[in-house]
Amino acid sequence: MTAKLRPLPSPRSRALLPRGLAPSLGAAALCAVAWPTLAATPTGEAAAARAKPGATTAAQQSAAAAGELANLDLLRQRLAEKLGATAPAASAHPGVMRVTNPAEGGADADATRASPSRSRTAARAPATLALAARAPGEAARPPQRRGPWSYGGENGPASWAELDPAFGLCASGRRQSPIDIRGGVAVDLEPIRFDYRPSGFTVVDDGHTIQARIAPGNTLSVGGRSFELQQMHFHRPAEERIDGRGFDMSLHLVHRDAEGRLAVLALLLQRGDEAQAVVQRVWNDLPLEKGLEQPASQPLDPAALLPQDRGYATYMGSLTTPPCSEDVLWMVMRQPLSVTQAQLDVFAHLYPMNARPLQSAAGRLIKRSP
Ligand SMILES: [Zn+2]
Repeated sequence: MTAKLRPLPSPRSRALLPRGLAPSLGAAALCAVAWPTLAATPTGEAAAARAKPGATTAAQQSAAAAGELANLDLLRQRLAEKLGATAPAASAHPGVMRVTNPAEGGADADATRASPSRSRTAARAPATLALAARAPGEAARPPQRRGPWSYGGENGPASWAELDPAFGLCASGRRQSPIDIRGGVAVDLEPIRFDYRPSGFTVVDDGHTIQARIAPGNTLSVGGRSFELQQMHFHRPAEERIDGRGFDMSLHLVHRDAEGRLAVLALLLQRGDEAQAVVQRVWNDLPLEKGLEQPASQPLDPAALLPQDRGYATYMGSLTTPPCSEDVLWMVMRQPLSVTQAQLDVFAHLYPMNARPLQSAAGRLIKRSP
């Protein structure tokens, strides 16, 4: 152990930081929603902008950097003296400070961060910072929790934020989902314009839900924006409530616009006499193993999921799974769809419970169709 501390990055070297690992929409990515905007700003893009040659000369920059380094050396020395001979844990990337983007890894918009290895990697860096910041004499903190997030047990919803620094919003966020949709203001909500068509898809059991990844070409438009359908997935029981009422299941249709903003259309599923044809299409192509992407034998028409009553409630919320990223536009259709007991049983066999507990609406504006 030595007291030598690693160099901190200067503003210029920060520009060399790796960008957030924005998952692609390709078949290889386990999550179906990429986060180009969220992942690129404010870390990557903003840092790159700052690094562009400006009015200062190379000599000025060099002198400034030298001065900054000298100051940092002094700071490090003082810190080292204060800490005694405590050195931070070894880093695989000396001199590189990891910038954690809350949306990184951004799994499914709400369902699918199925990459435990990446979680573990991300969890290491803050341990270094925590160690360096520890006061003299303070006992070592217990190691950060490890392992994939879940809906129960010690890695359940109450612990999500402790599993990965990127999951912080799961605990600290103030605009989280799901919520009980009650109260709110009744207004003439603009009808959502759906442009859905029969489309190819694949089905994946990602370890947290069953997800159907839909081929491009399906959009919904609202508020002057057009969002393209990426994937749909299921929760049991329904995560959202309406005026306190719960439902057997819900189906989340995750959409993304050209700037990377997310809009989720939530459909409520309730046991009834009629089978739901689109749900059945997904069930027919369930993969036999987790993680396998099963191509569907026939196309699926998302339009066949839309209830007759197009009334809905809308509010701003978050992903309901880690990393719990916010700024997600939610639209919850108020008329439930009928699914049969047999259809419910299929999902219950795989996922008896995969719903995040209700979050506080915390004074958010909820608008509802009258
Ligand atoms: Zn969901």
